[in-house]
Amino acid sequence: MDIQEIEKIEEALRKRELTYAEASEKIYSSTTKPWQTAAWKKKRETLIKDCCEQCGSTKGPMVLQHLWHPPTYKEHIREIYDHFFIKAQITSSLPGVTDEEVKDFMSEFTEQKEACPSCERSSINKRKTMTPIYRCKKCDHEFDVPKMVAYNSRLKVVAPSIEKIKKSITYKKQREFMWNTYGEEMRTIAVLKGIEGHKRYISMKDTKTYCKRCAFLWDRKRLKVCDVCKETLISLSMHACDVCQKEGHPEFL
Ligand SMILES: [Zn+2]
Ligand SMILES: [Zn+2]
Ligand SMILES: [Zn+2]
Repeated sequence: MDIQEIEKIEEALRKRELTYAEASEKIYSSTTKPWQTAAWKKKRETLIKDCCEQCGSTKGPMVLQHLWHPPTYKEHIREIYDHFFIKAQITSSLPGVTDEEVKDFMSEFTEQKEACPSCERSSINKRKTMTPIYRCKKCDHEFDVPKMVAYNSRLKVVAPSIEKIKKSITYKKQREFMWNTYGEEMRTIAVLKGIEGHKRYISMKDTKTYCKRCAFLWDRKRLKVCDVCKETLISLSMHACDVCQKEGHPEFL
């Protein structure tokens, strides 16, 4: 798919003339990878230099190294969701948990079981000779009188604390509300951001010419040559090696 086709889809999606599902269907059904297109190869030819921009080596072949990669759809969604969630919190449109729902949940726990008074878990040991009589296997608390907690023998689980129940019901309800209310919009924005990222990637503006060695070190070892002496290997986030730092160059820029 060439850039014109992608931009046509982007435009239609921006105007909401296409749904996110239709747009992604069109984009992802294309089996041609960007680097298989003629435009990609041509652009690469014009950008690639004769010497490595990292270490200065002129020993070919050179590669065009991408120093930026677009975020994934999932990463976009996570960020957009958080943004929408905060907005919903501010306008207090998020649903909360009702007493009825907590009661409903608790009705599954009709029995009682002995548990640790400290952490309320049922994994406790009764000791024959030592006192206190009980010891909790989870938190090591020692005690003589276990606490009775609500229990479901079919599922073999102790009821969580009311706080936890409220938290988990609220979480589930709010997620459902968010996706039902803003799902279409959030996914549309994510696909648009995906297209933007793709366009930036294929524009090759975040690329540099590297020799094979520098490209390998960057990709596989997360290492590069020192920005100053162009010799010592340092991690990608750094600017100068130890020796160059002693000569006054900062560790990071
Ligand atoms: Zn190099
Ligand atoms: Zn415990
Ligand atoms: Zn150095």
